[in-house]
Amino acid sequence: MQTLFAATACLPSGWANDVRVTLDGGAITGIVTDVPAQAGDLRTDVLLPALANLHSHSFQRAMAGRTEHRAPGTAAGQDSFWSWRSLMYRFLDHLTPEHYEAVAALTFMEMLEAGYASVGEFHYVHHQPGGAPYEALAELSIRVMAGAAETGIGLTHLPVLYSYGGAQQQPLVGGQQRFGNTVERFSDLVTAARGAAQELPRDTRVGIAPHSLRATCPEDLAAVLPLAGGNPIHIHIAEQPREVEEVKGWLGARPVEWLLDAAPVGPHWCLIHATHMTGAETRALAQSGAVAGLCPITESNLGDGPFNGTGYLSAGGRFGVGSDSNVRISLVEELRTLEYSQRLRDLGRNLLAQDAGSVGETLYLGAARGGAQALGRDAGRLEVGALADLVAIDRSHPALFGLPPEQILDGLCFAADDHTVSDVWAAGRHMVRNGRHVARDAILDRYRRAIGTLSGAL
Ligand SMILES: [Zn+2]
Repeated sequence: MQTLFAATACLPSGWANDVRVTLDGGAITGIVTDVPAQAGDLRTDVLLPALANLHSHSFQRAMAGRTEHRAPGTAAGQDSFWSWRSLMYRFLDHLTPEHYEAVAALTFMEMLEAGYASVGEFHYVHHQPGGAPYEALAELSIRVMAGAAETGIGLTHLPVLYSYGGAQQQPLVGGQQRFGNTVERFSDLVTAARGAAQELPRDTRVGIAPHSLRATCPEDLAAVLPLAGGNPIHIHIAEQPREVEEVKGWLGARPVEWLLDAAPVGPHWCLIHATHMTGAETRALAQSGAVAGLCPITESNLGDGPFNGTGYLSAGGRFGVGSDSNVRISLVEELRTLEYSQRLRDLGRNLLAQDAGSVGETLYLGAARGGAQALGRDAGRLEVGALADLVAIDRSHPALFGLPPEQILDGLCFAADDHTVSDVWAAGRHMVRNGRHVARDAILDRYRRAIGTLSGAL
């Protein structure tokens, strides 16, 4: 059992002062307000529910900074998501299981230090270069899990079904061969991943992720949905206009429109990059109860376009944020970029707050609820019975100093960086202390060695 004392805490009923929180067995077991600290309490400044990072491809962290130059002979505007993807495939030719584990550990450590307590790892690299399976079918899932176990992050592992190289069941080519599975082998993979997850803490979940409509087909999608077994189902849905057009030409409807019609989309679902939607699709997705998984930093980096946040939130849509390509891992910057994408498009301010009040609270608390839902975690709020996914931030930081409680999340989202984070607990595991992950040095050392060998091969 641990007890924390917070000078200020963000409870479902509002901001409270002098709060003692008891944690036991990974959950919050007691909250008392307006009481003095007691001997043995771990003292914190501002205590918040920690966010779930609902979408990550951890291996892509090792590509950060490697795709930001224009190749000779490339015209302005010619580089795109699709040319980035070609580079990603080439990078994959050299990635070993040892690299994978080292990169996953670093990525998860950085997420914790940024204030995330959990991650949805959308995991699509399954096999050896060329496509032959490893001796253990779930080898790379096991590597991801080892990274999660080492860092203590809460893991919702999402093995990906990726069977085709493009819309209309095109064959896999090149780097895509490491992703490929039939429905039958995917079922074996999910079973193997669930077996491996038995070794991890009890808050670990294994859901499924049909990669996208372009990488599967209607029959296969229907066939794999029962494998979720009540766990989360994630899918990339409408990231790029070209993808929307290809799906429309093939299935006769836009991706979100088609999926909402053909599949039982509801609260267990998370639609990643629902970027290109009509107004009708936006309202229908909001009404489905599914979560829109938004990755504003990556969506900016890849030139995807802005999500229709104003329309979606005003229709009551649920959302969370993910760091996707992990080109930069910053919780506050994800939230800030989401609001700024709307301001730049609409030439207005304070656009995502639904009523009068704090934009920061709308963003942070909305993403806390939606992220927890998307990962199947009973978290996202400071309440007795919920998982102890908590973050403490330091209000003496210049970006937050002097702000009244109701503006703390505005300061956090718009003025601060992630250095205000002092402590993070993932299901009660106290992994970040005084702003540093408890295993930082060892994880960083191994990452540097791995990248040394990887860079030599590229
Ligand atoms: Zn993604």
